[in-house]
This record gives sequence, C-alpha cells and structure tokens, in this order.
Amino acid sequence: MFGPPGAGKGTQAVRLAQRAKVAHIASGDLFRENVGSDTELGRLAKTYMDRGDLVPDEVTIRMVLDRMDRADAAGGYVLDGFPRNEVQAAALDDALSGRGETIEYAVLLECQREELLRRLVGRAKAEGRADDAPEVADERLRVYDEQTMPLVNYYENQGKLRRLNGEQPMDCVTDNLCEAIGA
Ligand code: ADP
Repeated sequence: MFGPPGAGKGTQAVRLAQRAKVAHIASGDLFRENVGSDTELGRLAKTYMDRGDLVPDEVTIRMVLDRMDRADAAGGYVLDGFPRNEVQAAALDDALSGRGETIEYAVLLECQREELLRRLVGRAKAEGRADDAPEVADERLRVYDEQTMPLVNYYENQGKLRRLNGEQPMDCVTDNLCEAIGA
C-alpha cells in the first residue's frame, strides 16, 4: 500500500489486514517503535524521520524483511509504507522470488496536494507527530514525488497496480479497496 503522506494508507491498511486476517506491517510504525524504545536503529532512523527523509534502504529493507519472517505473517500481510522507492521494491521482489512468493497487488491511494496539506495540519494538532509539522511535511511530500511516485510505473508494468481515490469517506475507500483486490 502506498500513497503520499496523509492519503490515509495507514487507516486503510489496518482495516484491510483485519478483514483479510493477515498481518499489518507498517515500516513507519516499526521505526516509531524503535525510536520509542531508543534502540540503535531507532536513533539512526530518527535523524532521517525528523527531516522528512527516507531512512537508508539497507536498514529499512532488513527491518521489514525480518518482520515478514515472524510467525504471524506466514499467512500473508499488508505492507504499509514499504517499499517506498525502486531499490526497496526490487529488493522485495528478489527476497520474495527466492521463496517462491510474490506481491499480489500494489495499491496506490491518491489524494490532491491541497487536501493532503489540510489533513497533515490536522494530524499534527491531533496526534502531535513531529514530522507532520509544515516544513517537514513539505519535505515528505517532495520525497514522495521524487522517490515513491516512480513505483506507479514499476507496478503498472507488473500489472499489479490498483489506484484508489483517497478523498472519499473512509468507509467508502475501504469498500473500494476490498473490491479492487477481491478481499
Ligand atoms: P507517512 O506515510 O505519513 O509519511 P509513515 O509512518 O509511513 O508516514 O513514515 C514516516 C517516516 O518513516 C517517513 O517519513 C520516513 O522517514 C520513514 N519511513 C517509513 N517507511 C519507510 C521506507 N519504506 N523507507 C525509508 N523510510 C521510511
């Protein structure tokens, strides 16, 4: 599941994982857990997250692949926020093909810039996420355009892309999502 910050992918990924009874694996949550418990990974990740930049691929890929190896992911998973660039997407494909598995769908949650900015301001107030502060949110949007948008072509070429309108009411997005991937 991918989309710009504020598109609602976290909310929808959790709902989908519950409905499909599979694991929900969110790279941002894994980083925030590590920041919270002050691990070495967390301290490293924080320096990038605080600026709105991507955490380096090597540590990100290792962290997510390790998480995918845990028992609760054996029956499947929704990946939320990973992959976020082509290097990560290729590493994921490689790792999965080594196991005779593959990503079934890549869901893109779309939302206009104006609405994203509105939501991020609201979230900064409600949840106090430091990276939702305006300057950092701007950088995250820039990084999204530059590094994550190319995944649209990547997954379109694989025939796996499903586009969803993230500006509809939340329940509506969930229904569209489940319909798009037959969940
Ligand atoms: P959002 O999608 O709203 O930006 P996330 O919780 O998905 O929020 O990500 C928060 C931050 O965590 C990102 O800005 C980035 O610094 C880091 N991060 C999350 N996923 C990745 C990833 N796949 N690769 C590199 N950094 C990531």
